[in-house]
Amino acid sequence: MQPEKKDKMTFKEEIQRRRTFGIISHPDAGKTTLTEKLLLYGGAIHVAGAVKSNKIKKTATSDFMEIEKQRGISVATSVMGFEYNGYKINILDTPGHQDFAEDTYRTLTAVDSVIIVIDAAKGVEAQTRKLMEVCRMRNTPVIVFVNKMDRPSRDPFDILDEIEEELKIEVRPLSWPIGNGTDFKGVYNLHEENLYLFHPNKQTIEEGISLKLSDSKLEEEIGESLAGTLREELELVTGVYPEFRKDEYLAGKLAPVFFGSALNNFGVRELLHCFLEIAPSPRPSHAEEREVKPDEEKFSGFVFKIHANMDPNHRNRIAFVKICSGHFKRNTNYKHVRLGKLMKFSSPTAFMAEKKSIIDEAFPGDIIGIPDSGNFKIGDSLSEGENLNFKGLPSFSPELFRYIENADPMKSKQLAKGIDQLMDEGVAQLFVSQFNGRKIIGTVGALQFEVIQYRLLHEYGASCRYEPINLYKACWIESQDSAELEDFKKRKHQYMAKDKFGRDVFLADSAYMLDMARENYKNIRFHFTSEF
Ligand code: GDP
Repeated sequence: MQPEKKDKMTFKEEIQRRRTFGIISHPDAGKTTLTEKLLLYGGAIHVAGAVKSNKIKKTATSDFMEIEKQRGISVATSVMGFEYNGYKINILDTPGHQDFAEDTYRTLTAVDSVIIVIDAAKGVEAQTRKLMEVCRMRNTPVIVFVNKMDRPSRDPFDILDEIEEELKIEVRPLSWPIGNGTDFKGVYNLHEENLYLFHPNKQTIEEGISLKLSDSKLEEEIGESLAGTLREELELVTGVYPEFRKDEYLAGKLAPVFFGSALNNFGVRELLHCFLEIAPSPRPSHAEEREVKPDEEKFSGFVFKIHANMDPNHRNRIAFVKICSGHFKRNTNYKHVRLGKLMKFSSPTAFMAEKKSIIDEAFPGDIIGIPDSGNFKIGDSLSEGENLNFKGLPSFSPELFRYIENADPMKSKQLAKGIDQLMDEGVAQLFVSQFNGRKIIGTVGALQFEVIQYRLLHEYGASCRYEPINLYKACWIESQDSAELEDFKKRKHQYMAKDKFGRDVFLADSAYMLDMARENYKNIRFHFTSEF
């Protein structure tokens, strides 16, 4: 179904035409390049090279300015909205750098589907595997794009096997490559029964040649030998892989796979068209209280990302709100559920390509940016009065820990405030040891420690120093058996801490210690995400 272009659209049509998704990949697989090509289709940008990679490159460990500059770029590309063929497409950017994985996990809670980019020579890489786990947790529909076919690639069957095995999802190729590297001739689109020929260095987009596999024209186009191979391979494809079924894709069980070359803009349009046809419009969101459907009349949404302003003189932040239901309007009173107070937003922004502009209204699936001076935390909900607390924004068990200490006694207030706000932004997690009262910062990546120190100094005028602490993992604990829980907390007093919300956290100093604790306390559950 292609949404008709009309001047005035109904609320339901506005929802139907929205596609909010994320592109995920291991760094260097081609996410930025693919994003850029998609934006070019939408006319959102006009030249290649306009989209900056949000890659945080760890050049020198102390290159803070570089981190800041790159953080700035990632604000601009956090959300890229554009119109194409009557659809409103919102691409949510996800940092590829593993130190920022938590940011990516949270962004994935705000998308309705994802496109995974895989390098045809490297196959499934570590970061892809991790991100796919998050998609699986939420049954997010996934389309795979196998990129860089213009370079020497692995056997397509091999790649598909690896995707199935490593990403634990059934696959169904909807296009099939003919050769690779310098012998890459193009793809056969099984979905449309079209042949697309590849001309390196020629970025004009050609129509596919409509051609049944049995047609002898195939030989004319790609030669006898390749035509023979293609027929054989496709026979195997049809025999081995299940029929493509949209319902299975939507349930997150089956991933259609496309082959192409983002850099050459080859296979991208077919990917986009199939995506628009099958990818879901905004899906229901889960609040603790109930399921919220996008077409409900009343507005609701949640904050999944907070970004500090780049200007150190204004400590303003932008809270990114995903609209879950209803029609959002500017200058209207909405309830900040956690604070229980009404708030009005006079300058909410939308993100169209790299431009930010103030908007008057927004619909489910859209992301709006709200200027914030410290009212929001990640996971906060907004509504028209109902108490809704959206789920799916857990904190993940950090893997690196350090004590954080005040290095300037005159600035202890600033430090406390800075730490508090940075934790609200989800930069890292703060635990307070129940044993000695010291503050412990836990992060997913090493880079965050530098970011925190730098930002405390530059945005809050506070200085901190770190001291080592030997910890293996932090996990949230709970039990129905309160006597056992109390006993555990007493015995492990030295290893107990509270998180920001006052929840009990067990800080294990080794894998062995954690195993023993689980062994000896059968009624206690140890959680590695804060939402259980
Ligand atoms: P990201 O880290 O996933 O965002 O990857 P980029 O989009 O920045 O791409 C990484 C590198 O691969 C860049 O040098 C791109 O020019 C290159 N690249 C991307 N797509 C292709 C492709 O289809 N073919 C070839 N040969 N190179 C590509």
